[in-house]
Amino acid sequence: MKNIVLIGLPGSGKTTLGRRAALALGLDFVDMDEVLARRAGMTIPEIFAAEGEKGFRNRESALCAEWAGAARRVIATGGGAVLRAENVAALRRNGFVVFVDRPPTEITGDVDTGGRPLLSGGADRVYALSAQRRSLYLAAADAGLPNEAGPEEALAGLLALARFVYPPSDGFAVIGDPIGHTLSPPLHRAVFAALGVDAPYEAIRVPRGRMGDFAAAVRGSGLGGFNVTIPHKRDILPFLDEVDGDAALCGAVNTVTVRDGRLYGYNTDMGGLLQALRSRGYGYRGRAVVLLGAGGAAAGAALKAALEGAARVTVLARRTAAAETLAAQVRRAVPGAVCDGGAMDGAGLRRAAGDAEILINATPLGMRGGPDGFPSLDFLRAAPPGALVCDLIYNPPRTALLAKAEGLGLAVMNGLDMLIHQALLADELFLGRTLDRAGLFQMFSNKGVKLL
Ligand code: NAP
Repeated sequence: MKNIVLIGLPGSGKTTLGRRAALALGLDFVDMDEVLARRAGMTIPEIFAAEGEKGFRNRESALCAEWAGAARRVIATGGGAVLRAENVAALRRNGFVVFVDRPPTEITGDVDTGGRPLLSGGADRVYALSAQRRSLYLAAADAGLPNEAGPEEALAGLLALARFVYPPSDGFAVIGDPIGHTLSPPLHRAVFAALGVDAPYEAIRVPRGRMGDFAAAVRGSGLGGFNVTIPHKRDILPFLDEVDGDAALCGAVNTVTVRDGRLYGYNTDMGGLLQALRSRGYGYRGRAVVLLGAGGAAAGAALKAALEGAARVTVLARRTAAAETLAAQVRRAVPGAVCDGGAMDGAGLRRAAGDAEILINATPLGMRGGPDGFPSLDFLRAAPPGALVCDLIYNPPRTALLAKAEGLGLAVMNGLDMLIHQALLADELFLGRTLDRAGLFQMFSNKGVKLL
């Protein structure tokens, strides 16, 4: 199991935080300066006086090399441990490195500089060290931990960061990076509460590039399963033991169950959208489906539509080549499927809308905080009466696209239906039983969740 390695300026709180985090996580705690002093039989200032900074750094490097082979430790490093690249490489070998980022103003405010030779120059020295080392800390760290709002917040932040190498011992989770915005915890907790299932569900930040560490840690953790969101839906694939049909076809996984230390991957986004459409009376079978966008969500929808026997699937994207590539992928994956790609420009949109029975926006156009909406929505006038316009966006609940479609008398649905249905399908996999999905879906509408 990984070490958690704390780096940062002298006085940034590494020892205090590390000691408490180790206690909370059931790990061993080691403080580099404490160990160096004990082994040398001298205080840190005495080592500096006797051997100079170089002698001290040599001792520090030897300890980093020794601890590269350690496990299950929280390591508080000395402030200068990052000065040598070999130390950083050794600490990272089996370590998740966290930069404890405390502003110099706070450090000079309350740190006793007596036992810290490099701080004996006072406040100016702290600022100089910060200017010299900040870029080194940032380069060496897997994650930053701001430490300016008090020790309790910093500890909570550190425990949250450590969660992906020390996952919970029961329940379920969602992983992603960033993860703060996710609606998954309230959704799944509401389902569990309605079912009387006593299991926690939490959000865990798994940094980009660290999926292998999480997959290894989760196998022995007791976690029953987890949902996967951006950016890990594809990069988790190599770490799974088995991948279900839809997920393998699409190359993206949003749900993983853990059984006997093995990881099984599924894609419930594809089935979730299908269920959402069906519940409104719009299955894919025999219908002309138009997809705007050629990213992950569009790929899942296009493949599922083709698998379900859509009469025709048209993919439009701002990069025509991306739309054509996705269309070719669909034709390869589903022999006999009729699927074409084209440009998402005015003419392309009007042509495709002209005979669309289901038109799905799978771009972020119109999303709160996202890019501006469609330059023109006039293409919707070409859609036949009875067509369904679906926006995968749910924030805002009624995008300009949906408002325009509604104004034209077309049927509309936003992304909330899909979100809820994919969560319910995931919960069936997590709990290993069939759920009354229609009843649970109704529960969300009764709770005032706005469904269009
Ligand atoms: P993605 O993989 O990043 O794909 C986004 C697609 O939109 C790409 O084709 C991209 O084109 C295109 N695009 C981005 N900005 C654009 C712009 N300014 N103009 C025109 N096209 C643009 O994202 P995704 O995961 O497929 O998600 C797509 C949308 O679906 C998002 O709004 C997401 O929130 C939503 N979604 C909802 C659910 C749900 O449960 N309701 C689930 C998944 C996704 P380029 O390749 O050229 O950038």
